[in-house]
Amino acid sequence: MRPTLRLGSIAGIPVGVHWSVLLIMLLLGQGLATAVLPAGAPGRSALAYWTVAVAVTVLFLISLLAHELSHAVVARHYGVPVRRITLWLLGGVAELEAEPPHARADLLVAIAGPLASLGAAAVFGAAAGGVYLTGLAPLAWVALGWLALVNAVLAVFNLLPGAPLDGGRVLRAALWWWRGDRAFAARAAARAGLGVSILLIAVGTLQIFWTADLGGLWLILLGWFLFFAGQAEQADARLRGALGGLAVRDAMTPPPVSGYVTQRLLDFAEIAATAPADAYPVLDPDGRPCGLVTLFAMARVPEARRPDTTLRDLRIPLDHLAVLTPDTPLEDAARRVTASRLPAFVLDQGILVGLLTTADLNRTIDLATLKQGRAPS
Ligand SMILES: [Zn+2]
Repeated sequence: MRPTLRLGSIAGIPVGVHWSVLLIMLLLGQGLATAVLPAGAPGRSALAYWTVAVAVTVLFLISLLAHELSHAVVARHYGVPVRRITLWLLGGVAELEAEPPHARADLLVAIAGPLASLGAAAVFGAAAGGVYLTGLAPLAWVALGWLALVNAVLAVFNLLPGAPLDGGRVLRAALWWWRGDRAFAARAAARAGLGVSILLIAVGTLQIFWTADLGGLWLILLGWFLFFAGQAEQADARLRGALGGLAVRDAMTPPPVSGYVTQRLLDFAEIAATAPADAYPVLDPDGRPCGLVTLFAMARVPEARRPDTTLRDLRIPLDHLAVLTPDTPLEDAARRVTASRLPAFVLDQGILVGLLTTADLNRTIDLATLKQGRAPS
């Protein structure tokens, strides 16, 4: 999830929002201002309802952020780097750059978010109770009560036992601890995630047909999202199961011929034709790798411009590529190659020793699966 807008960083963790968060703010704000608040505390002006609705929506986003920050801070405590936190339509995502090192860490990272939501529910609940007892400001206690309820629902929903929900991670950690096999635990949690997603879609559909309440659409949307996330989770678990214990050197291929930044496209095209590959490294005048040029990009230069085009014009710069070493664990490398969709450079003390492509990864997975003597599950 790429954030549309970066808000800043908290405790050194970049925080951003995706544009779809506006949609949820509008829906929530409108629902609060026109239905929830008028029903709980009737007789106020529209301005009062809208002002409180906006404040409640912002507090809701802050409690979502607290949920994700808790995951992130605990992950970092166990040495897992956190790339960023993004808030979006269906909640928040804390992107971890590696997996927690052991089952206990996996469990604590997973449970931290729902615990934060429960904590927020308790704080808002206590505040709502306090305001209620004073008998003043009924609008405020309805708003605080709503925040308490929503945070409690968030905690419970996230604890449904299917990956990638937090409850799925808890399930994974428990199975990992019990069986001592992380790959098995991850596959089981991903399968449970697909089960949960189908259940949500079914319940949402029933809700629409039986009660004619369109609120069921949210459940269907969530279930649909979880279904695809669960499939990605399953693919990831399979990959990790097959690649565990291997390093980049076990899967990389030697680099094909390289071009130079100053080289003209037409000259390099003749050389490239002799070395079958989809992408070629580009070197700077000192012979250091400085980017990659794809056959696809070369072929798309209009004929009239080809004589004046050099590899400098076509190259994808090095900082857009994953740069690995021969010793990088293949599981981590696979994640980065899949994310960038470009071949990764394998450098050994600054010298290009190989490329790692998705084709290399697929071949390695198939070979590993053959060796294990069972089909991937
Ligand atoms: Zn969470």
